[in-house]
Amino acid sequence: MKSDFEIAVFEGDGIGPEIMKPTLDLLDRVTRRHQISLRFNSVPAGAAHYAKTGESLPTASLDVAREADAILLSAMGLPDVRYDDGTEISPQIDLRKELNLFAGVRPVTLAENQNSPIRLAAGKQVDFVLIRESTEGLFWSQGRGEVTKDEARETLVITRETSEKLFRFAFGLAKRRKAAGRGRGNVTCVDKANVFRAFAFFRGLFDEEAARHPDLTSDHAYVDAMALWMVQKPWALDVLVTENMFGDILSDLGAGLMGGLGLAPSGDIGESHAVFQPCHGSAPDIAGQGIANPHAMILSAAMMLDWLGQQNDMPAASNAGEELRQAVDRSLLNVPGLTRDLGGESSTDEAGHVVANLLEGKAA
Ligand code: NAD
Repeated sequence: MKSDFEIAVFEGDGIGPEIMKPTLDLLDRVTRRHQISLRFNSVPAGAAHYAKTGESLPTASLDVAREADAILLSAMGLPDVRYDDGTEISPQIDLRKELNLFAGVRPVTLAENQNSPIRLAAGKQVDFVLIRESTEGLFWSQGRGEVTKDEARETLVITRETSEKLFRFAFGLAKRRKAAGRGRGNVTCVDKANVFRAFAFFRGLFDEEAARHPDLTSDHAYVDAMALWMVQKPWALDVLVTENMFGDILSDLGAGLMGGLGLAPSGDIGESHAVFQPCHGSAPDIAGQGIANPHAMILSAAMMLDWLGQQNDMPAASNAGEELRQAVDRSLLNVPGLTRDLGGESSTDEAGHVVANLLEGKAA
């Protein structure tokens, strides 16, 4: 059985290298305990690289990513590094398109005593997953928009091929969560089918896939109502699946529920490749100070281990991911483990050490 994995690492811009360092250390620790070996291959890309060389995602880096078993990425982009058309360089989006990573998986979890802008009733827990289609939708139009002096147009594209893969993935995830006791086996299609034909098409394809899963349940929600429900009754949600732009916006709402972007992990998953990265950006306002929250990056690495386990039929890797996730969860209950964005005073490295101690069964 394969136990050696090649991981392409994009340290990225801003706080990227700061949050990647403790993450790679934790991955080393947790995988060693499970006799798994990860080889990290760090490759250049990003805004600073573009400013230096004129290339945002070098072909050699893309080739390493293609060959790797999985890809870890911190964050890329700097607000003042832009193409001539005024848009920012965004290799993380280019990677999704190049590797056809159609499913953007954004877990949202909140325990009873975790800090959040919403108050959970006693006994309630939030544990749902938002799946954002990541290769088309309104983002299909990136770089293709038409702007004249008087008018601007962008086009939304939804294809049968990608939607079918997306919905298959969503129901597969709901099934695995139900088997693991982490969900009731329900998938909600989040759309705007009351107004747009494209979303009626999206919903129709969703219903076709739903009919293939009599062991699961499904329903629909308009995106505006879902924004309300994510705040009013997030504990009632299980697996949500939606278009790219809607998912982009709702995933930040999910991050807000968890107490901030510093806690929101993600995986961009395709049929044979996957990129794991925090939902946040390069946070240039705090870069270089050693105060960034590494938790979202570490949780993304835990998702990577789980995915490697599933892809390679290797439960040890998934178990390692679960141990890492639980160590982060426990560290959130320890004020010494919290960075400033969560109301603590820890540095990035100190927050990483707290997770490492909890992982190894020591006091925080
Ligand atoms: P951002 O997510 O970088 O920052 C938003 C706010 O959250 C800032 O105040 C920042 O300090 C804070 N923050 C973010 N991550 C944090 C962390 N780990 N710990 C503590 N605080 C954290 O969003 P932005 O400022 O809009 O974007 C900055 C740059 O990042 C832009 O160039 C943008 O295009 C890029 N970006 C990249 C990605 C990606 O690589 N996936 C995602 C979003 C934005």
